[in-house]
Amino acid sequence: MIHNFNAGPSILPKEVFEQASQAVLAYGNSGISLLEMGHRTPEFTAIMEEARSLVKDLMKLDDDHKVLFLHGGASTQFMQVPMNLLDPKDSAAYADTGVWSSKAIKEAKLFGKVDVVCSSKDNRYRNIPNDFAVPNDCKYFHITTNNTIYGTQWPTIPKTSNVMVADMSSDIFSRVIDFNSFGLIYAGAQKNMGPAGVNLVVVNEQILGKTKRTIPTIMDYRNHIAEGSMLNTPPVFAVYVCMLTLRWLKANGGIAAIEKWNNEKAALLYSEIDENPLFVNHIHKTDRSKMNVCFVMHDETLEKPFLDFAHENGIIGIKGHRLSGGFRASLYNALPISSVQHLVEVMRTFAQMHG
Ligand SMILES: *Cc1c(COP(=O)(O)O)cnc(C)c1O
Repeated sequence: MIHNFNAGPSILPKEVFEQASQAVLAYGNSGISLLEMGHRTPEFTAIMEEARSLVKDLMKLDDDHKVLFLHGGASTQFMQVPMNLLDPKDSAAYADTGVWSSKAIKEAKLFGKVDVVCSSKDNRYRNIPNDFAVPNDCKYFHITTNNTIYGTQWPTIPKTSNVMVADMSSDIFSRVIDFNSFGLIYAGAQKNMGPAGVNLVVVNEQILGKTKRTIPTIMDYRNHIAEGSMLNTPPVFAVYVCMLTLRWLKANGGIAAIEKWNNEKAALLYSEIDENPLFVNHIHKTDRSKMNVCFVMHDETLEKPFLDFAHENGIIGIKGHRLSGGFRASLYNALPISSVQHLVEVMRTFAQMHG
């Protein structure tokens, strides 16, 4: 049995894999594979419709908020957001909470002025800033709700008068948030929603169309809204797998229900790290991520032996990101609590062997 703690691409529900593999062989009664089916067929149009309506339903979105499935990963949104929302003479506010925020900041600077209103860089990104102000005239305020590499997460969403924009790639659908309070939300699918190759964008229509820039057709959110995410060929299979995962989430009680499980999984692992004499987590307690749990060992020379021991016990994907070292266990929605219990057992056994 494999316990998959990969940070992304990452674990999805087993039944989703079963249904997805069936669709590759033959989709429904069509007699052909989903991979050889036109995207304007009734079959695929229905899949796209259902995927979008599941997002609306799970996030409880109002009518102003439109749901798009786009290409290019979250990284494309780093540029697409400012291209659609920011004029050269205007400013956008960004919170710098890690590598992904820094990359978003870098791209935004190509389109307008960027005001980095807070940063936890001096603290090696081990906390979420909480003492800052966002100038009223900033066109939007961008945050990264969960910092996949460092293992921090905004415990609450800051309240400002600005349009809020969020990169939710690694905690989308993991906790209840007032999604309607955001002007724009984006997420690469491969962390908590589906396979790599598709992006979810939720955008409030009211914030669009205000820039004076001429936006290339494929980059303008308004065109994708008008065409129902079918401006060009969508990533058909990736959208289908997302739809299956969203169905699974709904059948399991939706975001509120999964949040309870996510809280339990995170509490279990953090309490083991805090109690086990070999391990330590350096993140400010209130800002600990419930999706990506990063930890190191007091004795660095034990890290390799622990990693090997974990592998021998069926645990994969816990090697930390090269920038933060140590370990990272990603506890995405589809990861069963039994995998976390198993990891905790393995940590205890290892501590007994090396105590
Ligand atoms: C993984 C990740 C990204 C990058 O996603 P791509 O789809 O590879 O472009 C961006 N932001 C966050 C928070 C991530 O975790």
